Amino acid sequence: MDIENLINNQRSYFKKGHTKSIRFRLDQLEKLKDALKQNEALMFESIYADFKKSAFETFTTELGLLYNDINVAIKNTSKWANKKKVKSNLFNLPSRNYIIPEPLGVCLVIGAWNYPFQLSFAPVISAIAAGNTVILKPSEIANHSSNAIAKIVNENFPPEFFHVIEGGIKETGELLQQKFDKIFFTGSTTVGRIVYEAAAKHLTPVTLELGGKSPAIVTKDCNLKITCKRIAWAKFLNAGQTCIAPDYVLVDENIKDEFLKTLKECIVSANYSFQNENYVQIINERNFNRLTELIDASKVYYGGKTEITERYIEPTVLTNITFDDKIMKDEIFGPILPVLSYRSLDTAIQQIVDKPKPLACYVFTNNNKIKNKILSEISFGGGAVNDALMHVSNDNLPFGGVGESGTGSYHGEAGFITFSHYKSILEKPLWLEPQLKYPPYSNWKLKFIKWMCR
Ligand code: NAD
Repeated sequence: MDIENLINNQRSYFKKGHTKSIRFRLDQLEKLKDALKQNEALMFESIYADFKKSAFETFTTELGLLYNDINVAIKNTSKWANKKKVKSNLFNLPSRNYIIPEPLGVCLVIGAWNYPFQLSFAPVISAIAAGNTVILKPSEIANHSSNAIAKIVNENFPPEFFHVIEGGIKETGELLQQKFDKIFFTGSTTVGRIVYEAAAKHLTPVTLELGGKSPAIVTKDCNLKITCKRIAWAKFLNAGQTCIAPDYVLVDENIKDEFLKTLKECIVSANYSFQNENYVQIINERNFNRLTELIDASKVYYGGKTEITERYIEPTVLTNITFDDKIMKDEIFGPILPVLSYRSLDTAIQQIVDKPKPLACYVFTNNNKIKNKILSEISFGGGAVNDALMHVSNDNLPFGGVGESGTGSYHGEAGFITFSHYKSILEKPLWLEPQLKYPPYSNWKLKFIKWMCR
């Protein structure tokens, strides 16, 4: 489909006001939920073809989250879209003051491949709830899932309201030349910069959901068993191909050996394998090769086996790593967990703070003072205390990065806000007309205004 025509059609559909009524928005959200339900088998199959992922994980990390997002949006859209009254102030008495949320217009959503359905549809749900039209460009890397997304959307929605365009760099480049009213991008920091630059030409507002190296800090007073179990789960889910997976661990030197031993036990007991469908493939050969090069055999504490034909990388733990190692330079985005130790917590915090602000940070401790110190001294997108990853599943927590890990946030009401403009209105009655602001000016007027601003 011709991109320019598609955008023009969406813009005129939007301008005619079709998407604005709450009824329309709720109907479309219901329709999306029905379309997903009817196509569950297709989604399970395509995720399996892309990742060898089990139905259990596809439901818990993709579909379940989406159904929850849609249900939350259906329940709250009319409340979120209500005009909100605010107080007046001294300069404007008497008056009524309120804020009207309004949709932005034609939105472009660009998805990443690692959770292809969730990362494509979750922003779309927010965009529809806020009353916009949407063009969605899923990642071409998870090819089967991208095809499924296009089929589900393009067979169920008219293109002037919601349409999927498939493709890679070329197609995304063509889309980015056009003027949108909002661009929502999920992907790498490198491509985030390209998107931001393209959006700047049209002064289009952007939300960038990017990546980075997210640390897990483990202190000596943590509950070791639960800490290791939760870190192993969060790291090796989706074979580490999760933007908020703990990228590396910083553990107190005093418990390092015990930590490594317990972590290994947790990995062994999870029994990660393709045969029992507890584990997934690396998405493609390029990523497989990139990841295997990061495994320094002399530093493997556990794992390290790889198999190219299956794109299998065993859950791997590296030890005796420092910030100078190659693996500590860029986001890993795979099932390799470097474990670094610290002697001084202050130095460990400083090492994190000296790097770009991470998308997530996790602290495992039973010490409130240490918890508060870490939460106040490190800037990061979001995170958890004594857990990892799960903050993404609470729609009451805005999800997003900061600095190089992203700008803006979504999920729940935060998503509605992201796809809305908030129009501020001051409404004045006609029965009172004080002369204070009008010429001719005078000394007593100035004195009075000065008194008001004292
Ligand atoms: P990517 O940046 O390579 O691709 C993302 C999207 O951009 C894809 O749709 C792709 O087609 C498009 N794209 C790629 N190169 C482009 C170019 N030169 N010009 C225009 N468009 C281009 O990212 P990815 O490999 O799909 O995902 C991995 C990265 O995404 C990781 O860094 C990860 O942390 C991050 N991520 C972030 C979140 C989040 O919510 N913050 C979620 C998932 C992934």
